[in-house]
Amino acid sequence: MTNKPIILWFRQDLRLSDNPALDYAAKSLCPIIPIYILDVRANIGAASKWWLYHSLQSLVQSLNQKLSFFIGDPQEIIDKLIRENNAAEVVWNRCYEPAVIKRDKGIKEYLKNQNVQVKSFNSALLLEPQDTLKEDNTNYKVFTAFYKKNYLQGNSKIRLPIAKPPNLNLLKIESLSLTDLSLIPKIKWYKNFEKIWQPGENGAFIALDKFLAKGLKGYKELRNRADLEYSSKLSPHLHFGEISPNIIWHNICSYSQKHGYDVDAEHFLSELVWREFSSNLLYFFPDLPQKNLQQKFDNFPWEENNDFLIKWQKGMTGYPIVDAGMRELWQTGFMHNRVRMIVASFLVKHLMINWRRGLEWFHDCLVDADIANNSASWQWVTGSGADAAPYFRIFNPILQGQKFDPEGNYTKKFVPELKQLPIKYLFSPWLAPESILAALNIRIGIDYPKPIVVHEKARQKALAAYNAISV
Ligand SMILES: Cc1cc2nc3c(=O)[nH]c(=O)nc-3n(C[C@H](O)[C@H](O)[C@H](O)COP(=O)(O)OP(=O)(O)OC[C@H]3O[C@@H](n4cnc5c(N)ncnc54)[C@H](O)[C@@H]3O)c2cc1C
Repeated sequence: MTNKPIILWFRQDLRLSDNPALDYAAKSLCPIIPIYILDVRANIGAASKWWLYHSLQSLVQSLNQKLSFFIGDPQEIIDKLIRENNAAEVVWNRCYEPAVIKRDKGIKEYLKNQNVQVKSFNSALLLEPQDTLKEDNTNYKVFTAFYKKNYLQGNSKIRLPIAKPPNLNLLKIESLSLTDLSLIPKIKWYKNFEKIWQPGENGAFIALDKFLAKGLKGYKELRNRADLEYSSKLSPHLHFGEISPNIIWHNICSYSQKHGYDVDAEHFLSELVWREFSSNLLYFFPDLPQKNLQQKFDNFPWEENNDFLIKWQKGMTGYPIVDAGMRELWQTGFMHNRVRMIVASFLVKHLMINWRRGLEWFHDCLVDADIANNSASWQWVTGSGADAAPYFRIFNPILQGQKFDPEGNYTKKFVPELKQLPIKYLFSPWLAPESILAALNIRIGIDYPKPIVVHEKARQKALAAYNAISV
């Protein structure tokens, strides 16, 4: 053991609990230099930048203001810091986005050639992609088989969380400040976010506790209801690594054993495994955000229609459940999972707009924007992905609204211009009798848009296009 400092590079692991790289550095007893580098090449959406700023602010506090900030090329920055601080080792937790894997491999190799020790750890996934292969050493493309083989035999393979190190010998070095990273977007559309979210490790634990107390019981049945709070809202916390999936996994298991919520817990854990499955797909198909997994979709006749795209983005399609979802996204940085499926299906099937346009908008607007989950999910909805929903399953936005927002509370919240409309007409306001609309002062086409496409016609057109690529 030398007493030279260790550089601890924080990335998507913005927490102190169950942080293997931090734990390793703390156990070395050497001084630790915690750093955060904003990689100039990273493509971070605007809503995610807002989250990242606040998450880093919270981490700075947890580290007693001893986090140092840099912007630029991580290899150059780390190289310089090693020389300036006479550091002997660099440690980090691994990320699984293709560009980051490539970058990190390069940095590792470079540092090893300079005789600097480098160690990396898994902190983001329950199991890493190379540990979940089939007998024949290829990766799973079907979720159920992936889940059963790797995650179903109890918790045995899922390691227990590591406790937060009791003492940290931290060293602050000269650096930029968090504000210098210019993460807070210039356009202040995010002002509601502050009321809804608490980024950072404490916020993540509060979300977990709230979910255990109020959301887990009934999760399996009620998680699809857009008007109820039966999902954990842990996704942004997971994306930024403010809480580990292991902490969530083991807390859910012990809580459900104690209270007998087995069915709900099992379902929730399977959703966490969808996250793992998406990371797996991205790991083994690095082109997932750009290329159709099923090549037949390369010939799909997507339509360029900027007018429709903008109406979809603004929540002005004339289909209230779609518009509610798109406005929820804009106003809160989040969208309920069921509604994500409805709006995504509407974009690719009713409007026949390329799924990549939807993915880009989600990437910019979601606080939980995650390349793996986002691209796997868009391809899943489109039907072009692994184990995907069949293309011919085209959601009817009227029926979906009635089913998953039965009292209309979600839709009325985000589409307040229709809030007086009787539930019978809420999801198809253009069918409401003139007398009702007039009494409520709602002019379809003026106060709320007419549907931009007719459901049945759009459905037939999408099916014909699909059949043409399927022959
Ligand atoms: C078109 C589309 C795009 C999506 N884009 C993203 C994205 O960019 N980032 C993202 O985290 N999720 C994405 N999802 C998946 C899912 O909608 C969110 O993870 C979920 O809504 C987050 O809410 P929650 O934390 O309350 O979920 P819960 O129901 O509480 O689930 C717990 C956790 O499991 C994981 N999870 C749940 N559902 C899925 C899923 N279908 N796929 C992968 N992981 C899942 C998430 O990490 C989530 O936090 C997308 C889904 C669709 C249909």
